[in-house]
Amino acid sequence: MANEPQNPGYDRVEDAGTFQMLWDCKYCNTKKLLGVNHKFCPNCGAAQDPNARYFPSDEEAIAVEDHEYTGADKKCGNCGTANAAKAEFCTQCGSPMKDAKTVALRSEQMTAGAFAGETKASAKADFEAQKSGAPAAPAEPPKSNKMWYWIGGAVGAGLITLIVMFFVSRAVEVKIDSHVWEKTVKIESYKGRTQSSWCDAMPFDAYMVIHKQEVRSTNKVADGETCEMARVDKGNGTFKKERRCKTKYKDQPVYGDKCYYRVNRWGPERDIKATGGLTQQPVWPMVNIRAGSCIGCEREAGRSEAYILNMTEVKKPDKKHSCSYSESQWRAIPDGAVKKMKVRMTGGAKCETLG
Ligand SMILES: [Zn+2]
Ligand SMILES: [Zn+2]
Repeated sequence: MANEPQNPGYDRVEDAGTFQMLWDCKYCNTKKLLGVNHKFCPNCGAAQDPNARYFPSDEEAIAVEDHEYTGADKKCGNCGTANAAKAEFCTQCGSPMKDAKTVALRSEQMTAGAFAGETKASAKADFEAQKSGAPAAPAEPPKSNKMWYWIGGAVGAGLITLIVMFFVSRAVEVKIDSHVWEKTVKIESYKGRTQSSWCDAMPFDAYMVIHKQEVRSTNKVADGETCEMARVDKGNGTFKKERRCKTKYKDQPVYGDKCYYRVNRWGPERDIKATGGLTQQPVWPMVNIRAGSCIGCEREAGRSEAYILNMTEVKKPDKKHSCSYSESQWRAIPDGAVKKMKVRMTGGAKCETLG
């Protein structure tokens, strides 16, 4: 029973005993009467009001030993007196209890520390909250972390501002300063390259291998538990205390065999570039390479060209922009021409809007 989790979300629930609830007599104002021992006020004889039951503090709680639990009390439909669940007739007025309803239960309470005592006002507030559908006031108010809301809000506002600035642009006048064409040939080389991988995935032709132990993954392992106490109204003048625990987990590193090695592979080596202005005929650069599959041999790995206009904003000469266009667009605009173009609030040019 003790180790059987009854509440979902907990790994372990421990029985911490059953105790008497307290009640105050509303007729003679005697306080802290016991929920089990005092079904009637010992001072004036008034019946216990099940709606006035409240929880004692941990120090004041009186344990109930061997008290047979038959269910929550039932409330007499005639006089309102709480009777034991198995009672057939009301102990106060003798009415049959067959169709009597179960008394209302106090809300469950949780705490990480010790429970404080209540007054009958707590019971009243709890039942009123239950009726209005609002959650009952917790035994321990949750710690609010307002600072994080502010930081989150500020970061969010900043991000939104940046996004808006990226999409909002203004039209500016730009002067074409110069024309530049660039023709580039990418060259790859075949040579020893430093690489690393988990050793079980190392290429077969690797050499100069160094093994190291490195964290490859993590295992979640149990690392103690966090527990809370709960007190639960059983509806018969008693409540039970439970210790509800969740297992804590920590990440434990799992090491693997990591290999650092060299391996002969094709890879980026250099770019050969030719550039010129409007008056020079665009030509591909001379490509002088040692072809083959030897160590140190080279091969072409793609060609690209760009036709770039360098511009200055007329009103803000410190703001410069560079944009690529097709060769025919690039040729159609002379140096010194003044054009309109949209520029983002974040600073980048919307090159396609030049016109
Ligand atoms: Zn009394
Ligand atoms: Zn009755």
